[in-house]
Amino acid sequence: MIDLRSLSFRYRQEWVLKEISLRIEKGEFIGVIGPNGSGKSTFLKILCRLLSPQEGDILLDTVPLKEMTQREIAKKIAIVPQEAYSLFPFRVIEIVLMGRSPYLGHLLFEGSKDLEMVKRAMDWTGILSIGERYMDELSGGERKRVFIARALAQEPEIILLDEPTANLDIHHQVDFLHLIVSLNRDRGLTIVMASHDLNIASEYCDRLILLQEGRIYKMGSPRDVITRETIEAVYGCRVWVDENPISGMPRITLLKRGREGSGA
Ligand code: ADP
Ligand code: MG
Repeated sequence: MIDLRSLSFRYRQEWVLKEISLRIEKGEFIGVIGPNGSGKSTFLKILCRLLSPQEGDILLDTVPLKEMTQREIAKKIAIVPQEAYSLFPFRVIEIVLMGRSPYLGHLLFEGSKDLEMVKRAMDWTGILSIGERYMDELSGGERKRVFIARALAQEPEIILLDEPTANLDIHHQVDFLHLIVSLNRDRGLTIVMASHDLNIASEYCDRLILLQEGRIYKMGSPRDVITRETIEAVYGCRVWVDENPISGMPRITLLKRGREGSGA
């Protein structure tokens, strides 16, 4: 459904993404991994045209993204940015309603269909009971849910998530990932998630894209990508990779400096 053809992007002189080619199929759960500054956030912003690449093409269901309006794109692709936190005293319901803006007419009044979608999105994400609360009164986990609800209110086919589990405790991480998996499996949404957490990416994603300095270093199943050689080469630190005994997926353990040889 998304076809990237040799795209390159730079903010200034330096190319930040270089000749990225790949296809994202409908219903996939893709993880984008790579060290700090490797281009993960930039990649997600390009997918929803917050940024436009200087070279290459992106086709969304065979239509070039650059020929679509921002409204048309927003009906298909929603992004949950990393620092999805506003300092303004908005209520939860107001934030979720913003997801309807691609559907509103000139006067920007919402109709019953819009309110219905907002309610449904809040129900799916378990935030119906906090609709009247203010954003700055919520926990980090609740705020994340609000921004997912806003994305769902857009009725997109694809959701882009930038480091969604950063700063969540393990209980909230598991809750949040369960929500994302159910959106993917039960509602057929395509998910593209940038993550620092390699073990989460390995457990949850069907396919991983490993970026190094703006290039795809490796792409494939977690088993293909999460290997000791690959991770050490890209992240420049020693790790131990074995299998998660419950899931059988690759599992990374960090090795203390100076202890690299022991037992490994
Ligand atoms: P990641 O999300 O993998 O940490 P980013 O996509 O945020 O990486 O950044 C990739 C590179 O682009 C980094 O070198 C970063 O410094 C640079 N960069 C990111 N945002 C901007 C910006 N707005 N202006 C200029 N350079 C930027
Ligand atoms: Mg980032």
